[in-house]
Amino acid sequence: MQVSGEMNKKKIVILGTGGTIAGTAAQAGDNLGYTAAQVGIGQLVAALPALGDSHHALLSEQVAQVDSKDMDFDIWCRLAQRVAHWLAQDEVQGIVITHGTDTLEETAFFLQAVLDPAKPVVLTCAMRPATALAPDGPQNMLDAVATASHAGARGVVVVCAGVVHSAVDVQKVHTYRLDAFSSGDAGALGRVEEGRLRLFRNWPSAHVGHGLGAIESIASGAGASAWPRVDIVLNYAGADGRAVRALVADGVQGLVVAGTGNGTLHHALEAALLQAQAAGVRVVRATRCLEGRVLPRAGDTLADSLGLSPVKARVALMLDLLASPGQARDV
Ligand code: ASP
Repeated sequence: MQVSGEMNKKKIVILGTGGTIAGTAAQAGDNLGYTAAQVGIGQLVAALPALGDSHHALLSEQVAQVDSKDMDFDIWCRLAQRVAHWLAQDEVQGIVITHGTDTLEETAFFLQAVLDPAKPVVLTCAMRPATALAPDGPQNMLDAVATASHAGARGVVVVCAGVVHSAVDVQKVHTYRLDAFSSGDAGALGRVEEGRLRLFRNWPSAHVGHGLGAIESIASGAGASAWPRVDIVLNYAGADGRAVRALVADGVQGLVVAGTGNGTLHHALEAALLQAQAAGVRVVRATRCLEGRVLPRAGDTLADSLGLSPVKARVALMLDLLASPGQARDV
């Protein structure tokens, strides 16, 4: 843990988890052949003196050091506990979390769902490694700290390429572009311009119904093996029920199906999902479309994802099952 700035100022806590923002390549010009999660958060903060301002002191802590493609439940639990710890300190104004872009939307949604914080928790990232000729991480960190410092800011948000997204709406939509995220139909929450936040809509608040029981399980130390197993299956031309049947035989407790269009499913896949549901597996229907949501219709036999993308619907279902283990089938 490192502290910079005066002790009596409000604090912004910067938690490091790895990602490309902490990545290094052998050659400065190489934006692809790098290794993520190499530079410590203390070093990233120290390299950016402009992060400090006259009102806030910075404090940094390394919570994990991973390429976010390898994000796991143990890190999520540790991160949720450290975020909750710092948010409870009166002198902490807000939190910034550095994270890889690949699973950033899942971590952001997880933190929003379990913590629903009354202070800002701002995830940020980079598409180019720290050693790039023109890295994007430093500006993203500056924008994230500006967002976390903003009076009245609350909830979990993502800041990338000058755009502020809410945890519920954000999705990584591009493999290479620096502005790799979108909030789809909902639109961005705001923009950071020259260190100032221009807000378009309200700060995020609780995403219904996932919090308390899950937090209790997480706080009581539910390790990765105690988390319910929830998988995602996809509808496509020629889909069938074999993957679903294999997963059920293997003890899956929940399934999210990324349907086509308005959550439509090949009849063979649908039959297998209904059979799984009848056997006690929780099934949720999302859409593989990047925009829009599954609009429920009278007589639907599979619950829809309430507008969540397949990966977020999976997190929500895991938290539901974690909060009320009685609902899960015996495996
Ligand atoms: N694979 C990297 C990660 O998610 C990609 C990135 O950070 O942009 O950690």
